[in-house]
Amino acid sequence: MGKGVSIQCKKCGFSSTLFEGIGIRSKDFDIFRKNIAKEDNEFIDYILNKDSTNNIVYHNSYGRCNKCGNLATINYVEIQYDIEKKFILDQKCHKCEGRYDVITLEELLKSKCPTCNNEEFDSFVNIDWE
Ligand SMILES: [Zn+2]
Ligand SMILES: [Zn+2]
Repeated sequence: MGKGVSIQCKKCGFSSTLFEGIGIRSKDFDIFRKNIAKEDNEFIDYILNKDSTNNIVYHNSYGRCNKCGNLATINYVEIQYDIEKKFILDQKCHKCEGRYDVITLEELLKSKCPTCNNEEFDSFVNIDWE
């Protein structure tokens, strides 16, 4: 079961709900992959077809863009293959050219509002989701 948090900026009213973990319905990697962009999935197929996969880690994570500070749920995917190689799915920001970094709940709650830069969110933690 995943966890979620809703945040709302105290100043401008920006709000967002983010999730982390893995839901019951997306427990299967094939289902989880449906949220991933086509070109990324093609590369994942390429790795999986090599038949040298050691380990696949995938879950939802809280993410923050390293350029514009946008906050979003990201699909974290890490695949170890060919003994020492590691693929980590790149998380491009849909608002700018930046990339999302994985952040903890604590870092999320301390983040600046992506809209007005204010530093205080109201938050409602621990939503269980499927
Ligand atoms: Zn704000
Ligand atoms: Zn961005």
